[in-house]
Amino acid sequence: MIVAIDGPAGAGKSTVSRRLAARLGLALVDTGALYRCVALAALESGVGWDDDAALAELLPRLAIGFGWEGGEPKVYLDGRDVSAAIRSPQISQGASAVSARPVVRDGLLGLQRRLGRAAVGGAVLEGRDIGTVVFPDAEAKFFLTAEPRVRAERRFLELSAKGVPTSLAQVLEDQERRDRDDSSRAVAPLAQAPDAELVESTHLGLDEVVEQMVQSLRRRGLWA
Ligand code: C5P
Repeated sequence: MIVAIDGPAGAGKSTVSRRLAARLGLALVDTGALYRCVALAALESGVGWDDDAALAELLPRLAIGFGWEGGEPKVYLDGRDVSAAIRSPQISQGASAVSARPVVRDGLLGLQRRLGRAAVGGAVLEGRDIGTVVFPDAEAKFFLTAEPRVRAERRFLELSAKGVPTSLAQVLEDQERRDRDDSSRAVAPLAQAPDAELVESTHLGLDEVVEQMVQSLRRRGLWA
């Protein structure tokens, strides 16, 4: 079973996807981490986030891996743990920038499909275009969102807890730019698939969101 969870930045996709995957016993694929790794690798190699030719050369050389350590999901780039490095505000903007380049989207498409299909029993994939482009035939699709202010507050608390110096106003501004860029790009923009269930989480806790999704899968006979 493939479960697609798409939505804008800060909607709670990561935490919800992680909990849902654990509850259902499915693998978890954080597709945003792939775009983040491309942005980080480009930055470290002096490749511009809009340099299609250099990005095309860089992509096949990247070894991106996922794992778990101490119950936490980890992301590895060429064997190095980059889980924290890819979450900085700078790399968030970089991920959004490289994700608008068709060469990057094409380069990551096959990998995302392989990661989803390789998992025994299925996978929960979270991103922006999982239900529309990567797995248009996914058995279950959710579009998770919340009011912009609430999303920014959640992201601000998360960054503050990690000691990243920022302000709510800055997080809100970055988020608005990223939402605008992600929704308006020509290729695979952030969009709700016509057959995706909308989950509005402004007034819901993360557990309630997961519960709503599980109930939806049950109603549709996808989960016992
Ligand atoms: O989900 P996350 O915030 O980690 O994603 C980082 C960026 O990667 C997003 O802002 C978006 O531009 C891009 N992305 C995408 N398609 C996906 C997942 C992420 O374009 N499936």
